[in-house]
Amino acid sequence: MAKLHLITYGCQMNEYDSDRVAGLLREHAWELTDDETQADLILLNTCAIREKAEEKVFSRLGELRKLKASRPDLIVGVMGCMAQLRQGAMLERAPGVDLVFGSPAISRVAELVERARHQRATVVETGEAPLVKITAKAPSASRLKSFVTVMEGCEKHCTFCVVPRTRGRERSHPPETILAEIRGLVGEGCREVTLLGQTVNAYGRDLTPPTDLAELFHRVNDVEGLERIRFTTSNPYNLTPALIRAMRDVPKVCEWFHLPLQSGSDRVLERMNRGYTRARYLELVDALRDAEPEIALSTDVIVGFPGETEGDFEETLAMVERVGYDNVFAFRYSRRPGTPAAEMPDQIEDAIKARRNTRLLEVVGRVTAARSARLHGRAVEVLVDGRAKKGEGELSGRTRCNRVVNFDGRGRTAIGDVVHVRVTEVLPHSLRGTLVASPEEALCSSR
Ligand code: SAM
Repeated sequence: MAKLHLITYGCQMNEYDSDRVAGLLREHAWELTDDETQADLILLNTCAIREKAEEKVFSRLGELRKLKASRPDLIVGVMGCMAQLRQGAMLERAPGVDLVFGSPAISRVAELVERARHQRATVVETGEAPLVKITAKAPSASRLKSFVTVMEGCEKHCTFCVVPRTRGRERSHPPETILAEIRGLVGEGCREVTLLGQTVNAYGRDLTPPTDLAELFHRVNDVEGLERIRFTTSNPYNLTPALIRAMRDVPKVCEWFHLPLQSGSDRVLERMNRGYTRARYLELVDALRDAEPEIALSTDVIVGFPGETEGDFEETLAMVERVGYDNVFAFRYSRRPGTPAAEMPDQIEDAIKARRNTRLLEVVGRVTAARSARLHGRAVEVLVDGRAKKGEGELSGRTRCNRVVNFDGRGRTAIGDVVHVRVTEVLPHSLRGTLVASPEEALCSSR
């Protein structure tokens, strides 16, 4: 069999796409290898969200050029968001690339690779294409947890973001297709699915008849053998009372919600074109906590957006404290070509972005530590998903609120089990605990 080496950058959607590509190529006698020097085909699945992500890809392509010089038959391909957005730069800065294709062309990857094998010039395929559900996937030992794409694209047009240009319009997969995929995954041992979309909570409004994520939760919940449902990533603008009710009422939906804030300042939110205010975001948080008091909230924050003053930034810090997030992903604003914010006059210096990022991380450290501390002494429900990185016989898993818990399995439990663990130690990035027999007082147990 010919050998394929896949390098994946960026979000969960890219991980999902890479898995599909490996599966599709497998059907055409390509097997995965971890060793790029053994590969006949190297594919880089790329991310264009920040400049840093792009620079990583260009520098990797530079390294691969050397490998290709010693192995002229090697095919190097670039797929994903950068392929879609930066095909010109790609061909200019990485002339050795044989194949460039965007996510709409993934279903045709085998044909594109064949063309690249025989064609002298670079094969470029970055046009729009109908949405196709691909269920082929790479062979893998663990299928306990799986991503399932439920929609593609984004129509929000936030002024900082390239996604509408890399992933196209919002297009949802029909519920029946999603349910068939999930049933198949569960049949292979999957116990937890994460429903993916760029704005997953806008799911279904483009379908005929229209539906929504709340309705999808109810239907996925009925899949026997499935234990947990997660979803990401949501936009506060599309967070409806029906979705909040479904989070409360659908037993398998976990008490974890990633709700990107981006900024705590109304002035900045408006310039970002986010479609909500600080007050509206807080209203949503309060509604979520009323419905689900133990819910863990995580978020994305951008520091140094054009025109962000110290006062605006202080408002972001205050929001992080007020909401009490379990996790915060902090990003320094990156000027993306073709986006409205890139043209805004009052760009912020890198040194100021770096200083604000450091201050934000200090506040985040304090806030998330306080959230973790409340778990000390409590019993939590854990889906055991592997061996702990350290410690003989130690197992590891995640709570429904997405915390990593390590504990001594003592031969009494196995990977794939759902167990209850009392938290005895709270560490910066994980919890430690001991198995308990009774789930009665467990926090965030499946009801
Ligand atoms: N759909 C989500 C939303 O807007 O609510 C965003 C998903 S995006 C793939 C992940 C995160 O990357 C965003 O939430 C944002 O914080 C960050 N991001 C996007 N564009 C950025 C930029 N130009 N500079 C810095 N961070 C950016």
